[in-house]
Amino acid sequence: MPSNLDVLVVGAGIAGLATATALCRGGMSVDVIERSPESRATGAGLFLPGNSVRALTALGLEEHLSALGAAVPGQRLMSHRGRVLADIDLAELWRGTAGCVGITRGDLHAALQDVVPVPVRHGVTLGSLKQSDDGVHVEFSDGGSGRYDVVVGADGIRSGLRESVDPAARARYLGQVCWRFLTGDAPDIDRWTVWLGPGTAFLAYPVGGGRVCCYADLTAASPEDPTTTSGLLRLFSDYDQRVRDLLATPAAHKAYFSPVEEVGGETWARGRIVLVGDAAHASSPNMAQGVAMAVEDAQVLAEVLTTGGDTKDLLQQYVQRRLPRIRWVQQQTHRRDRTRSLPTAARNIAFRYGANALFERGYAPLRDLP
Ligand SMILES: Cc1cc2nc3c(=O)[nH]c(=O)nc-3n(C[C@H](O)[C@H](O)[C@H](O)COP(=O)(O)OP(=O)(O)OC[C@H]3O[C@@H](n4cnc5c(N)ncnc54)[C@H](O)[C@@H]3O)c2cc1C
Repeated sequence: MPSNLDVLVVGAGIAGLATATALCRGGMSVDVIERSPESRATGAGLFLPGNSVRALTALGLEEHLSALGAAVPGQRLMSHRGRVLADIDLAELWRGTAGCVGITRGDLHAALQDVVPVPVRHGVTLGSLKQSDDGVHVEFSDGGSGRYDVVVGADGIRSGLRESVDPAARARYLGQVCWRFLTGDAPDIDRWTVWLGPGTAFLAYPVGGGRVCCYADLTAASPEDPTTTSGLLRLFSDYDQRVRDLLATPAAHKAYFSPVEEVGGETWARGRIVLVGDAAHASSPNMAQGVAMAVEDAQVLAEVLTTGGDTKDLLQQYVQRRLPRIRWVQQQTHRRDRTRSLPTAARNIAFRYGANALFERGYAPLRDLP
């Protein structure tokens, strides 16, 4: 049943654009504000597993993904010196969902902007926000104002709206820092390929247009950048020559650095304000589920809001539907970190004999529809 709610979406990242698209399709009237003065998606690439591609396809992005991204048929796990530990067949792992894809962040963002049916108001943020019986009254930074039935916080890991929903929930450092960059210098990388070292890992996968996304991480007590990018090559100096070659490309010198963090709170709605995507539940990227969870949030929120009834109750229903799945993903990311931190020999044996079973167990529930 179409809904006639007026909704404000704060943030036009992947979660915000997906939510705006899904809510518009459900008949809602949607405004979107984005703090950045212009549309830009910084970062490198995104690996989209089968459930992610299924959710994006439902939003109408199937052709964009096949035109802009690269099909990723498998995942290869190797020791840091390049010995193959395991090969995962992704068609088998994601059976019943969709083929996995690698894509640049910029291309996915542009694809979402192509399908979102409303304009994004760039350079605008929230001034003030007040909930009352008849809705949420908002004043914008550009002097405008509005009344909304629902305000959606899609404002990312440093969400300001989270303060109004769960002031105790914060981004928590997970003990790893990472670097990522795009390069056109690796035509032989035709699948998701990881080299695992002691306290470090290096990952590369195709993202379409002849480009490859590289991702390096390091276990570190402090979230500060421990090195310059030239030091990054030193950090991986005993890795397979293939990795050293990639770290010697010009693109590696401009790698994006960030600490790996998680938002672990479970209160995602208060009154008429609701959180989606990283604002609610940013997770370690080691399961590559950030996009999937954000787009599934959008779908479930739209589905619940179109059933009709008390809006605040419906937002709580959305939270209850999403909680078990997000909890599962975050538990799996912690489990992966524990496996990775085993002594190198033990970890390599675990992956050599158990990787297929580990991946099957970790991802199987995500093959079900959200
Ligand atoms: C290193 C790394 C690698 C990753 N790799 C993968 C991967 O391979 N696959 C995958 O699925 N996921 C991956 N993820 C996770 C994925 O990037 C995120 O889950 C996803 O981008 C979430 O998007 P979002 O829209 O919730 O947040 P964001 O992308 O942060 O968007 C939030 C938006 O809100 C805007 N905003 C913030 N505050 C305001 C305000 N007050 N007013 C207006 N606008 C505001 C911001 O400018 C921004 O545009 C990775 C994450 C990291 C850190």
